Amino acid sequence: MFDLTLSFDNGPDPSVTPGVLDELARRQIRTTFFVIGEKLALPGGRALAERAKAEGHAIGNHTWTHSIPLGRRSEPDVAEVEIGRTQALIGDLAHPDRYFRPFGGGGVLGPHLMNEPVLRFLQAGGYTCVLWNSIPRDFADPEGWVETALAQCESQPWTLMVLHDLPNGAMAHLPRFLDAVAARGGRIRQDFPPDCVPIRRGAVTGDVEPLVTR
Ligand SMILES: [Zn+2]
Repeated sequence: MFDLTLSFDNGPDPSVTPGVLDELARRQIRTTFFVIGEKLALPGGRALAERAKAEGHAIGNHTWTHSIPLGRRSEPDVAEVEIGRTQALIGDLAHPDRYFRPFGGGGVLGPHLMNEPVLRFLQAGGYTCVLWNSIPRDFADPEGWVETALAQCESQPWTLMVLHDLPNGAMAHLPRFLDAVAARGGRIRQDFPPDCVPIRRGAVTGDVEPLVTR
């Protein structure tokens, strides 16, 4: 028995996200989609996010370009350009808690995730910073990630997993993964483990020091 919260990052993608949404709807599973601003701005992007929200999923912010981790950027306006611009485009599709997920380049947690201006921006803007405790590396292992994911689920009581609605073939195995979760008694939920949320509605609720380049 284990609890599992699912999230899908780096979309939306017109060739993958609809199939993911179909599969989740069929099973009545609700998740969070952390979208990239420049993909949301592409033709059809917003319609996918609208559909996800209408089907009960939450929409979160995963930066505009997803290029260089924010802790490694020194431009004074990087928070506004990467986070604020994306939040403005998400607009009324955003969850009221203003979910933001930094990216780490391969899912590694560390001081490269943000710098001091980014931290201040999240606090001042009332954002909720949503990390993770499971990266089955579907982006690098599109055929084998399911076994990694199941092992991670069984290694801890409550997993917050990062998957990706990207066109690399990995999501073709989502039904097999969800079947295995059900067979093992996994309980899927939409809220986040508190340990994965170091900032909630702008208030620091966890240890942010390991995440900030000073
Ligand atoms: Zn990402």
